[in-house]
Amino acid sequence: MKLYLASNNEHKREEFKELFPEYEIILPKDEKIEFDPVEDGSSFIENALIKAEALYSMVKKPCIADDSGLCVNAFGGKPGIHTARYGEEGGRKLSDKEKYTLLLKNMEGIDDRSAEFVCTIALIVDEHDKYVIERSVKGHIVKEAEGVNGFGYDPVFYNDEAGAVSANLTRKEKNTYSHRAKAALEIKEILDREKDRIWKETNRK
Ligand code: IMP
Repeated sequence: MKLYLASNNEHKREEFKELFPEYEIILPKDEKIEFDPVEDGSSFIENALIKAEALYSMVKKPCIADDSGLCVNAFGGKPGIHTARYGEEGGRKLSDKEKYTLLLKNMEGIDDRSAEFVCTIALIVDEHDKYVIERSVKGHIVKEAEGVNGFGYDPVFYNDEAGAVSANLTRKEKNTYSHRAKAALEIKEILDREKDRIWKETNRK
C-alpha cells in the first residue's frame, strides 16, 4: 500500500518507513513531482495541512505531511514553525550543523534551557476525510553537541523521556521517544482502522 509523504527529506522517509512498516512511503521526487509548497501557515497544523493538501491535489491518493519544530521556552516558543529556516534570514542557506551551532550560541548565558519538539502530522485520505494529530516531547538544549545519529537539531536536544541526547539514540529508540513517533503512532491507528475502506475507495477512482 502506497502512502505519499509530502516532504523531500530522506531522513523523514527513513523514520516513517520504520513507523509505518506495512506501507510503501513515496516521496514526490520518486515520481519526479516538483514539490516546494509555500509554508506560510501560522501554526504547525496549518503548515502540515498546506503540505499534505498540496501533494494530495497532485496525486489524488492518501498523503501524509509532517510539520515539526523546536520550541525553546526562553525564546517564547521560537523558533517553532520557523525551525527549518533558523538563522537563514536574508536568503542565506545554513547546514543543520550551522543552525544548531547558532542555537547554542544564542543560548549562551541563558539558564532556562527547557524546550520541546513538536510534530504535527496531517493525513489526507480524500477531499472529505482529513486528520491532524499534534504531539510533543519535552527536554532541554544541551551546552555542547553530541552524538551522530538522527538529523537536524538531534545533537543538541536532550529528550527527557529517552533520558538521552537525541543524536545518541538508535533509530529504534528515536522511533519510540520522538515527537514524530508519538504523532505517527496515532495516525497509524487511524490508517489501520480505516485501511480497507480507504484503499477500496481510493483505488476505485
Ligand atoms: P519541517 O521539515 O518543515 O517540518 O521542519 C522541521 C525542522 O525541525 C527542520 O529544521 C528539522 O531539522 C527540525 N526537526 C524536525 N524534526 C526533527 C527531529 O526529529 N530531530 C531534529 N531536528 C528535527
